[in-house]
Amino acid sequence: MNNVIIIRYSEIFLKGKNFGFFEKKLFDNIHEKISNFECDLIKSNKRFFIENYDIKNEKKLIEILGTIFGIHSISPAIKIESNIELISNYISTLNIKSKTFRVTVNRADKNFPISSIEFSKNLGAIILDNNKNISVDLHSPDTIVYVDIRETKFSYIYSKVINGLGGMPVGTSGSGLLLLSGGIDSPVAGYMMARRGMEINAIHFHSYPYTSESAKQKVIKLANIIKKFTGSFKLYVVSFTKIQENIHKNCSSSFMITLMRRIMFRIAEKIAKANNLQCIITGENLGQVASQTVESMTVTNAVIEDLPVFRPLISFDKDDISKIATKIGTFETSILPYEDCCTVFLPKHPVIKPSIDKCLKEEQKLDIMKLIDDALKDIEIIDI
Ligand code: ATP
Ligand code: MG
Repeated sequence: MNNVIIIRYSEIFLKGKNFGFFEKKLFDNIHEKISNFECDLIKSNKRFFIENYDIKNEKKLIEILGTIFGIHSISPAIKIESNIELISNYISTLNIKSKTFRVTVNRADKNFPISSIEFSKNLGAIILDNNKNISVDLHSPDTIVYVDIRETKFSYIYSKVINGLGGMPVGTSGSGLLLLSGGIDSPVAGYMMARRGMEINAIHFHSYPYTSESAKQKVIKLANIIKKFTGSFKLYVVSFTKIQENIHKNCSSSFMITLMRRIMFRIAEKIAKANNLQCIITGENLGQVASQTVESMTVTNAVIEDLPVFRPLISFDKDDISKIATKIGTFETSILPYEDCCTVFLPKHPVIKPSIDKCLKEEQKLDIMKLIDDALKDIEIIDI
């Protein structure tokens, strides 16, 4: 008899032809994340099991599994030889604290010598004998004792089923470059794409000395928080100061943000392509600010040559985004009051419905290619 952790993965994988690929990726992702612990990760019958670990680490291991996309649920369990007497003996040691319970036996091993209904009844009677003030409730019990009798000649006994994050294993859905600001939205956008299995790298634009060193540190901190879910990545830090000064000096102030965003997107696409990243991701949200109208997004998209731009939060309410930010642990850092380069030189009346023609006219006042080339020459790459 020993402690194990059962890891169940999502049913979606079971259907497709690529099942083996998803399963292996999930196995590797889990393996990597628990590699600091002495334990075995075992694949058996469309489930994974962590075995041979120090029970003191069980909580920590479960916490780590709770950060891995592609896991449907997790159960700490007892693994025991499939034998009526051994299972009954173990059940007799259970101390159940709730008022009502039910035993659910699943007999995957059809050679096990007693039917699941009969065995449930017998085990239920043992629990009633050994626990005071407890009764059976088959429909909505406080505690369900699961006894899963597998074909492997081993059974698993557990009562906790902890929800995993769901989604797909990171590394099964391509790769993208996340435009990461210090705000609430973009870290959540990165999390959402990673949840669908995408590998994330990030780019941040700063306007030092208009923006402070602390503003940059805040973004690095946010990157380190989402890393818990996305895995390690590269953060490309690009200076936007000269570009902003040039726009400010030469162009109509109402176009400041629109032009900045068009240049950000051009730089992002170049960095994405140079690093074999397949798309651009932003935290944009329809109607949130002037730069997030359909017209604004149309003119920023227009500078992109051929990569898709994904905006996973486009239809979310701010409340919903904030809830996810709180759940993943970025909210508290995101609301720290450091400036972002988008708030430097902020125009009083930003254009809400920019047209491409006007953007092109404004951009003629800049040496865009040179500004972009200069920015690309001076990128800081931080390993997150
Ligand atoms: P966020 O909360 O993500 O900062 P926001 O509501 O403040 O979003 P904007 O400032 O208009 O909205 O930015 C929209 C998106 O553009 C951000 O979600 C992010 O993806 C990107 N972005 C904005 N500022 C930067 C920056 N300094 N560096 C990198 N990307 C940025
Ligand atoms: Mg912002």
